[in-house]
Amino acid sequence: MKIHEYQARDLLSAFGIPVPAGSVITDANDAVKAYDEVTSNAGSDLAVVKAQVFAGGRGKAGFVKLVHSAADALVAAEFMLSNKMVSVQTGPEGLDVNTLLIAEGVDIADRPASGSQPGKPDEYYLAITTDRNTRRNTLIASREGGVEIEQVAHDTPDLIIKQPINPVLGLQPFEAREVAFKLGFVGKQVNQAVGIMLKLSELYHDKDCSLAEINPLIVTPPTETYPNGQVLAIDAKFNFDDNALFRHKDLVALSNPDDEDPREIEADKFGMSYIALDGNIGCLVNGAGLAMATMDTIKLFEGEPANFLDVGGSATEEAVTEAFRIILSDNAVNGILVNIFGGIMRCDVIAQGIVNAAKSIGFSVPLVVRLEGTNVEEGRKILQDAAGDLPTLQAANDLGDAAQKVVAAVG
Ligand code: GDP
Ligand code: MG
Repeated sequence: MKIHEYQARDLLSAFGIPVPAGSVITDANDAVKAYDEVTSNAGSDLAVVKAQVFAGGRGKAGFVKLVHSAADALVAAEFMLSNKMVSVQTGPEGLDVNTLLIAEGVDIADRPASGSQPGKPDEYYLAITTDRNTRRNTLIASREGGVEIEQVAHDTPDLIIKQPINPVLGLQPFEAREVAFKLGFVGKQVNQAVGIMLKLSELYHDKDCSLAEINPLIVTPPTETYPNGQVLAIDAKFNFDDNALFRHKDLVALSNPDDEDPREIEADKFGMSYIALDGNIGCLVNGAGLAMATMDTIKLFEGEPANFLDVGGSATEEAVTEAFRIILSDNAVNGILVNIFGGIMRCDVIAQGIVNAAKSIGFSVPLVVRLEGTNVEEGRKILQDAAGDLPTLQAANDLGDAAQKVVAAVG
């Protein structure tokens, strides 16, 4: 499960990590009031209007706007709420923006004249996620945070610091200090940065996160209270482990179904997982491993999956029918590959689901079916008996055959 930035900021605050104040709006007409609210206590006219969507790259897409007046806040809010955001992470069709955060803007200190890239705003990257290679939660940090972090990680991976976290002891203060020094924090910044890392690690653990990311973490120019500047989080992103949500009712309450893919939500209601992709072949499979193998094989024959829908191990006929409805609701789908390896899942249930779907929705696109495993003979017979309802059906002998047939059928 994902949450929006404004919700992530609340979580950071709850764990004692400093973030600038903000106000959330869904109607552009509330932008002026929100701007006045966040700037009235700040002693500066700088605010930042930010689209709340489940995709990054907002800054580069023009959906994070610094403003110096209520009038500019209004213009930015109107623009964001009436245009789709297209960023490197959204795909060309973009995303609707339903919610905005108007936050207190902060001045970001320049990088010191002595270091690399002097004069550039001082932005750091800080995150925790699970590293499957080391089988440890890992603190990831970089001096080169901000909107170019993906490029940095790709071009200059040695600028990314990784600190594995001991699963029993948790992140240790000395480890966090070492990272803070490597990041170049000085003077009183060090303890602030260490505090933020330790709290982020506590949050990651307590809330069963799969990703906790602050980008950028910044340093403000010096003030009286903070002679070396204050270390602040100004953007955050969290993903949570869905399998642990049963013990986090507070997080479940934060979910934003309106901003999720409606097909994912529909599939979830029936205990199935739907993942949207960019191609034109819909995939109905059982099990995540088989889904991966199916997509690899489609790609091997130069096809492109439009999605995969994993019906899991115990789907009913009704769920299978719904699965086809979900797959066919995507206009990009020109063909469907059903690849089922029946174990607990029975092939006859899948076959009956296909027939029901054919009767209630109708298949206008080519349908290639490969069934194997439990009750496969019954399954094949159900499909043969219903051949009249399934004019676009082709049976396949194995996965390679199935992938080739569906790729040929979609052209
Ligand atoms: P993202 O592009 O979706 O990651 O959105 P961010 O919230 O990270 O904002 C993108 C960039 O906008 C940041 O890396 C900063 O350079 C800039 N930015 C965001 N908020 C502020 C702010 O309050 N003050 C200043 N000076 N820059 C900001
Ligand atoms: Mg960011």
